[in-house]
This record gives sequence, C-alpha cells and structure tokens, in this order.
Amino acid sequence: MHKLTLKELSLQLQARKISAAELATLFLDRIEASDLNAFLHVDRDLTLAQARAADARLAGNDAGPLTGIPIAHKDIFVTRGWRTTAGSRMLQNYVSPFDATVVEQFNNAGTVTLGKVNCDEFAMGSGNENSFYGPVKNPWDTLAVPGGSSGGSAAAVAARLAPAATATDTGGSIRQPSALCGVTGIKPTYGSVSRFGMIAFASSLDQGGPIGKTAEDCGLLLNAMTGFDERDSTSLQRPKEDFNRSLNDSLKGLRIGVPKEFFGAGLAADVEQAVRAALSEFEKLGATLVDISLPKTELSIPVYYVIAPAEASSNLSRFDGVRYGHRAADYKDLADMYKKSRAEGFGEEVKRRILVGSYVLSHGYYDAYYLQAQKIRRLIAQDFQRALEGPDRQCDVIMGPVAPTVAWDLGDKTNDPVANYLADIFTLSTSLAGLPGMSIPCGFGQGEKNGKRPVGLQIIGNYFDEARLLNVAHQFQQATDWHLREPA
Ligand code: GLN
Repeated sequence: MHKLTLKELSLQLQARKISAAELATLFLDRIEASDLNAFLHVDRDLTLAQARAADARLAGNDAGPLTGIPIAHKDIFVTRGWRTTAGSRMLQNYVSPFDATVVEQFNNAGTVTLGKVNCDEFAMGSGNENSFYGPVKNPWDTLAVPGGSSGGSAAAVAARLAPAATATDTGGSIRQPSALCGVTGIKPTYGSVSRFGMIAFASSLDQGGPIGKTAEDCGLLLNAMTGFDERDSTSLQRPKEDFNRSLNDSLKGLRIGVPKEFFGAGLAADVEQAVRAALSEFEKLGATLVDISLPKTELSIPVYYVIAPAEASSNLSRFDGVRYGHRAADYKDLADMYKKSRAEGFGEEVKRRILVGSYVLSHGYYDAYYLQAQKIRRLIAQDFQRALEGPDRQCDVIMGPVAPTVAWDLGDKTNDPVANYLADIFTLSTSLAGLPGMSIPCGFGQGEKNGKRPVGLQIIGNYFDEARLLNVAHQFQQATDWHLREPA
C-alpha cells in the first residue's frame, strides 16, 4: 500500500478497499519505525481524527481526488494544533492559532496530516544540516544528506513514510532535495501558491509546491494548493486550471533547450552522464535538443546570496522574543533581552544571513550590492525570456541537471557555507526569474558508499507552463522507471 501513487491510493479509498484511518495508521507505523529524523512532530490523535473525518466524507460521497490521502507538511507551514518550528530553536514551542493557506486548502480537500517534517532552519540551507533538530538522513544512503531545505519532505516521500509532502523553494529547496532523494517535485511560477502562513525567508522568492512520487501526483497536489489568496499581496489572480490536463500529450516536436552553462566545469561526470541519458530518452520520445545559452547563470549565486539574505534580515526581525519566539531567561534590560534571545534562538547560518543581509542593505552599501543584485536579477530573467518567449523563442522547455553532484556525505560541508551555496548553481536562476521548475529522478551516480545516490533532471518552463512541465515529466515516467525505484 505504501508504494502506491496518490491516484492509486485514491482508487483504493473510493472503492472502500482501505479506510483513511487504516491508511494513516499504516504510514504512522512506518514513521515510528524509521530513524531518518524526517519527522519533527507526529500526533496520532490529531491524524486519526482527520482520517475519520475523511472516512465520513468518503462514505457520504463528498470526496475529491485527495480525500483520505495522507500527507506530510514541511514545518515551515503553520498548522493549527501542531507545533511549527521552521527547524529553529526560536520557534521550539510555537503553536500557530491558524492554518497556512496551503494547509487549509489541503484540509478542505480532505487530506490527512501525518505530521510536520524537518527542514533547514528558516529554509536556509542545501543539506538539511542547518536544522536545530538535527540533520535528516538520505534514505538511499544514510551517510548522505537528503538535500535541503525541504530534506524532510523529500526523505519522507523517498522512504515511503508519506505518499506526498508539501515543500517550499526559495532557491531550489523543492527541486534539489527531490533530486538528491530520487523523488519528483515541482516549484510553480512565483505567485501561484499562497505564502500566507508559510514562514517567510525571502518573500520575493519563496514559493510552495509539492513533492511526490510521480509527475501526475504532483499535478494533483498542485491542483489543490494553487489559487488566489487575498491574504498574500503577491498572490496571482488567475482562473483555476487542471495541471494534469495535458499529461498524455505526445512530445513529438517538443524543443528542449540545453543550456551550455549547465554542463560546464563543476558538473560531476556521473551526474552529467545520467542527465545526458535522460535527454536521449526524450529524443526517442520525439523531442529535439537545441543548444542554448543562459550567460548570466554564474551570477545567480552572488545575486541570490545578496537578495535572499537582505529579505531574510528584514523578515526575521520579527523574532524578538516579545511578539514571537524564544526569550532568553536572564537579561539586564530591553536591548539585552533582544540580543540574548536572538543569539540563543537563531543558529549559525541564520545569523550569517542576517549579518550579510543587514550589511548589503545598509547606507553606503545598498547601491553597491543590493541595487546591483536587483539589476542583474532582471538580466537573469531576460536570459530565460530570450530562450522561452515570443515568436523567435528557441525552445519550449529547458533541461539540465538540478545539482552539480549527487548527495554529499553528512558533515562534509557543515563548516563551509560557500560550498553549500555553490551546490545551488543550477536552481537559483529559475527562482530569481520566478519561473516554474521541476526535478524528476533520472538515474544514479557512481561511487556507491552505503547505497546508491540518485540524480535528478531539471525541467524549466515559461511562466504558467506547469501543465507542460508535468506533461513532459509524465511522458518520461511512462517510458522509464527511475521514479519507481525505492531505497533498500
Ligand atoms: N539552498 C538555498 C539557500 O540556502 C535555497 C534554500 C531554499 O530554497 N529554501 O538559501
């Protein structure tokens, strides 16, 4: 049962072959038996109450495609009744009085919350090692990182502890852990998924999305989690669409842009091999490969690591020990209370970003760093538009690796922030441009240690072209079985 896709599980539930309560129990038992540290909070009573409500809807013919489906939520989405920590000590005991819009949408669809999953502190990281609650192990090889920041989401789906999970992507945090854990994830166009109740990291980049086993499952989840929300000022007002409407379209004539900047020095040979093999598979499906150039790719790292910390330094100022969060036990006066509370509540990486962010926004440096980064951000977006937009466009989608290497060893990059930042080279530009991007499993790397290490193929599309990305991914998943492979 735990191997089934959402579509298959939904059929089982609707045919009453299994109840939502039984299904939830099955996954809760798997979670309890696991030692990956993927889940931060599990509460059987809360889960089973929701499952029983789903069973009532199933019995009353009031069920949709996700009613009774168990799901894990990244611990960055606030959830009423559950703790929400954002992977931080700062929010160790925080219980939100309301649900994030994404959580509310899933609750309305009848999904059953299995628990809250681990992530890098305030979603800052690429290996999930920045969580105050300890790293998550990669289910394929427990010596390896699962990727980040949505490492708990990706590991939970890969280990079949949950059939699907919510995640967020600011600079790659849906796509990169999906790649490193061999599962499927999509970050939609910026503004598609409400950020209300999603604890803010960098507001102009943060975007929620799903992680699942298949592209089709991701489409089902996107159908539930997108939509206009007046409580998010950057939420887009667009008609509801069925993201799975073109799954079965043929790929004959599809033009795939292959950016040369995604295949240069720094890309590991084993990753390149798996990605090139996937590209050949697409040729067999009728697509043609077009060489393209995204010349500003390299600049996405310095640009992102100016803009994201700048926004983070502002967003995180609300954690002052008064309105939210941890408060130090002993302090002399108000200023001392702020200092001690923030010093104790935030981890190293978060502090580093607050410092960098405050610096690049400060008088005298604003023009040199922040403003400059914003200008280059525009040029990065224009690179993509030249390739994907207008009558002279070169391609329909862009493909390349998600990450330059397979998952690295736990502990390998802990003391080297820049090494972590460099791992984001292929995901950041999509985020800076606000474009949709996804990751699908396409093979394994070499140098097996304690197990295989998966490789992900990245598929990037024009704004609002999610249905096409899912179509392209689905056709690949009909022709290959990488997405069905499971860790030992
Ligand atoms: N790894 C990137 C960072 O550390 C992206 C994180 C994210 O997408 N949330 O900021």
